[in-house]
Amino acid sequence: MARLTLDEAIEFLQAIEAGAVTLRTPVSPQRIFAGDVTYAASNGWTLVVYVDANEWDYVARVVSDDGRTLSREDAAILINRYTASDEVAWARYRIPGYRRRRCEGCGRDIKQSRESRPRSTRCRGCGGVHDLEEPAAEG
Ligand SMILES: [Zn+2]
Repeated sequence: MARLTLDEAIEFLQAIEAGAVTLRTPVSPQRIFAGDVTYAASNGWTLVVYVDANEWDYVARVVSDDGRTLSREDAAILINRYTASDEVAWARYRIPGYRRRRCEGCGRDIKQSRESRPRSTRCRGCGGVHDLEEPAAEG
């Protein structure tokens, strides 16, 4: 079977950034914390992103709707060539940022709990159980 090309993979990632393709996950990425997050994309493709300490790290795997994947060489190139900004990581991938936890209702930071993988990802105001992080003191 033909391989997925690097251009196709990058075009796909750019469509996600633009919001033309949307992503769904069975489990909130924040609950994974470190490891592979698998997304089902609205165009039928599958995407796996490696997350480290709640930070977007790299694209681990792209599978097109007809089952094609990148060659090993192209997959390695993609890791170096493509990264999501913090804004895109949260807005499109629901990955909150390095060691952050964010409410999936309002996007504000929620207080860290001892639990490394809390069951809820919403603040009290959005129907969850978490307190919001106090705003950082001025000065
Ligand atoms: Zn909230």
